Amino acid sequence: MRSQAMFFKARAGEKLADVQLQKNLAGFKDKFVGMRARAVDAYGINGGADFEALRDAGQMIRDRVLENLDVWLELFEEKATQRGATVLWARDGREICEHVIAIAKRHDVKKVTKSKSMLSEEAQLNVALMAAGIQPVETDLGEYILQIDDNEAPSHIIAPAAHKNLDEVADLFARTHDKPRKTDIPALTREAREVLREHFLTADMGISGGNFLIAETGSVALVTNEGNGRMVTTLPKVHVVITGIEKIVPNLEDFATLMRLLPRSATGQEISNYVSVCTGIKGVEDSDGPEHTYFVLVDNGRAGLVGSEFQEMLRCIRCGACMNHCPVYQSVGGHAYGWVYPGPMGSVLTSLYTGLENSLDLPHASTLCNQCGVVCPVRIPLPELLRKLREKQTERGLRPWSERVALAAWSWVAQRPAIYALASRLGVRYLNWLAEGSDRINVLGVAPGWTEGRDFPAPQGRTFREMYKNRNERSKA
Ligand code: SF4
Repeated sequence: MRSQAMFFKARAGEKLADVQLQKNLAGFKDKFVGMRARAVDAYGINGGADFEALRDAGQMIRDRVLENLDVWLELFEEKATQRGATVLWARDGREICEHVIAIAKRHDVKKVTKSKSMLSEEAQLNVALMAAGIQPVETDLGEYILQIDDNEAPSHIIAPAAHKNLDEVADLFARTHDKPRKTDIPALTREAREVLREHFLTADMGISGGNFLIAETGSVALVTNEGNGRMVTTLPKVHVVITGIEKIVPNLEDFATLMRLLPRSATGQEISNYVSVCTGIKGVEDSDGPEHTYFVLVDNGRAGLVGSEFQEMLRCIRCGACMNHCPVYQSVGGHAYGWVYPGPMGSVLTSLYTGLENSLDLPHASTLCNQCGVVCPVRIPLPELLRKLREKQTERGLRPWSERVALAAWSWVAQRPAIYALASRLGVRYLNWLAEGSDRINVLGVAPGWTEGRDFPAPQGRTFREMYKNRNERSKA
């Protein structure tokens, strides 16, 4: 599985130089951060409850599932089958496409409406559908905007078109829909609804992702803010759910607990506008619903993480909080990361799913400030996982020789206190010489690349060793 994640540095440089993107990102930067903060505060005030305890509960639910993932998956398959659904398993993106196209052919499908599914992005399903003569129509507003803009890739997992501004969308709609240009959001959304309604009513098959799979009932839970999920799952005669095997939760109570975490962490909402729990096929008493339901449960690298040092990553409930709070994501946006998942979670997942050698820069696309770890609703230690990936790259000799030599030299010096002290003194003198009396260094002589886009702070006052020595001397006096 290849990605464009090899080229993070080059892409990040392009994104930083993109004036329009930088303006759009500045508008986006604090939006979700503020909304999450207010929702977390309100959780404590209104409910008298503790959001940190809720995070503990979320982590426990996810860990309990991952410890016996095979058992929960078998239970899910049994219950879903009892309710008339068909459960299929896919090892990778190719098998996802094969299953979906086989289902489409079986039911003579010509048009498919889709609710957001990151797995279909992993599999590049739209490309496969079109090659098979089947028209895919994205119905999540963000995904729809990207589809009509030459099938652009999403830049955020919950706000796929976060990199675009209102004017860009207005131009795109006017061009694509051949209607007068509108500039207010309600008019634009109304226009999208009019176009999409026609597709909802004529599609033969609906494809959705799944926020959670509920083992005790064999159901899929979908969380949306636009209602498109319901149209996709109930109107066509065939519904196909494509989701990762790790999305399982044992029961409805656990689902309810995770639903207290997901919207608050994602969009700062107490609850999303639409929460749908779909079980089985249309019954004789039901006025609507699919006649055929298929679950395509996907591995694509997930099973290999169970029991590994990266298992914690499988707790992810795809809220997007880590990227919303990441200073690197906020500066370069999602496209710089080069694959389906951006931000800190994406840097870990891309490395694990596409190979360390195919994503050399991604574990380093982080300051390790731990903002992501602090907000993750299921307490995934993202900085620790990124550090482990860096270690693995070094162990496998995947880092540049200059970096490996520098680290080996550092290790040698750090283990010899006298040499370390001498090197520190010389280093400080050298930096002060470069600073020429200023508090900033514009060009870092030995590593000029570091100061290409920023200044290096000049040493201020005494070194840590000097302060420590003085303190010890004072305490002895
Ligand atoms: S890693 Fe945590 S914060 Fe990031 S998307 Fe997953 S659950 Fe949300």
